Parts: sequence; structure tokens; C-alpha cells
Amino acid sequence: MNQDSLVELRAGLRGTALGAGDAGYEEARKVWNGTIDKRPALIVRCNGVADVIDAVKHAASLGLAVSIRGGGHHVAGSSLIDDGLVIDLSGMRSVRVDPAAGTARAEGGALIGDVDREAQAFGLAVPLGLFADTGIAGITLAGGLGWLRRKLGMTSDNLVSADVVTADGRLLKASAAENADLFWALRGGGWDLGVVTSFEYSAWPTGPDVFFVFATYPMSEARQVSKASERT
Ligand SMILES: Cc1cc2nc3c(=O)[nH]c(=O)nc-3n(C[C@H](O)[C@H](O)[C@H](O)COP(=O)(O)OP(=O)(O)OC[C@H]3O[C@@H](n4cnc5c(N)ncnc54)[C@H](O)[C@@H]3O)c2cc1C
Repeated sequence: MNQDSLVELRAGLRGTALGAGDAGYEEARKVWNGTIDKRPALIVRCNGVADVIDAVKHAASLGLAVSIRGGGHHVAGSSLIDDGLVIDLSGMRSVRVDPAAGTARAEGGALIGDVDREAQAFGLAVPLGLFADTGIAGITLAGGLGWLRRKLGMTSDNLVSADVVTADGRLLKASAAENADLFWALRGGGWDLGVVTSFEYSAWPTGPDVFFVFATYPMSEARQVSKASERT
């Protein structure tokens, strides 16, 4: 690690940059799957888009491989990288709901429960996943299936726009109208195309009480059930 550039990075950050031996490093390299034991060269705990841009530029200047941490829930621990630089968004969890527009915007480190909490204050919900402590980033960028899937589709169907820091340190907005090719790719194949610093979603009137049916069938009826669900 180049000490001069690390000092310069740390001087600019609103967040922190942790290397092995720094207080907080061991905690910062823990993810949901407790068997993952990766040792990044540097973990940049970002506190805003400017921190993300600096982290990307720092990694590029040193030729360090990068991983991105949203909620840290991916079972393979893909948000961490051995000997590389982790862009850690776990401190970026703010959510802003616009009830009149029917949208919610959340930062890239937000968890499903963060969005649920804010959206439900206005009787709204974003179709995200089943568990409140999963990150919105990984789920949205891979498609996302949750409780509301049959009614409102996948999470990626409900993405309106995203702010993305690219590998050359620019901030782009991706939506149907701007950078439409990037927007297309983000909705299902989006991991690691750039660092998504915020997601804007459609939010729908939901609850507070909802009914949900989760039907399960014996394996012996699989053929019959698949045929029936093709027709619905
Ligand atoms: C207990 C549990 C329950 C789950 N339930 C569901 C469910 O109901 N529905 C469902 O669809 N899936 C579910 N999943 C799968 C889950 O959606 C994925 O594991 C998802 O990757 C978690 O998102 P995360 O932000 O926590 O991931 P992370 O582990 O932080 O990241 C996963 C990947 O996404 C990339 N990434 C993370 N943040 C960003 C970002 N801001 N910009 C660009 N790339 C980024 C990382 O590089 C990494 O490769 C579940 C997983 C677990 C462990």
C-alpha cells in the first residue's frame, strides 16, 4: 500500500479507510456468512458519493482490485476481496420517500428493513426481498424476488433510476431516459458494473395489514402444478 496516497485518501474522506491492524478492521471484514474469512488490503467505509469516487480513484491509481459491499448478505461473501480494496457502503443507508410521486430513493448500503420502515410511514411498500436485514443493492441488481412478486413483479421491474459511480470515477444517472443501456444492464445483471450509490424505486400502496398465501405441494404433484402455474 502506498502510504502517501493512503494519507491523502484519509484526509479527504468523510468516512474511514481501514487496513489490517487498524481498530475496526476485523469487524468490518465480517459478513452475513460467518464462514467467510477474506482479508482485504483496505476497507473504505464510505459516507457519501465523494468518498466512493475517491475510493474508486485510489484503487485505480494503485492497480488494486475492488469489491463493493452493500448489505453484505451474499452467501459467497462476494462483497469482500482478498488483498483488494472494499468499497463499503454499509454507512450509507438513508431513505427518502416521495408519497406524492409514489417513489422511494435509498442509498446503496440500505437494508430492506430501512426502506420498509420509511415507506410504511406513508402506507407504501417497494417490492424487495423476504428478510429485513438483506441489502437492497445486491437484491435489486440481481433481479429480486419478494413477498409482493406476484402482484408487483421483481425488484428490478420497480427500479426507476440509479446513481452509479463508474470505474473512471464519474457519477452517472441511469434511467429509461438517461444512459438507458446501463439502466437495462443494472436490472438483473448489475453487480460490479459500477458502484450504485442510490436507487430510486416505484413505491405502491400496501398494508399495513396484508394477506399472503405461500402454497407448497408434494414433489409427486410437480408436473401438474407447473402446468397449472403456466396458465395463470
Ligand atoms: C438470509 C438471506 C435471505 C435472502 N432472501 C432473498 C429474497 O427474499 N429474495 C431475493 O431475491 N434474494 C434473497 N437473497 C439473496 C440476496 O438477494 C443476495 O445475497 C444479495 O446479493 C444480497 O444483497 P446485499 O446488498 O446484502 O449483498 P452484498 O453481499 O453486499 O453484495 C452482493 C454483490 O452485489 C454487489 N454489490 C453490492 N452492493 C453494490 C452496489 N451498491 N453497487 C454495485 N454492486 C454492488 C457486490 O459487488 C457483490 O458482488 C437472500 C440471501 C440471504 C443470505
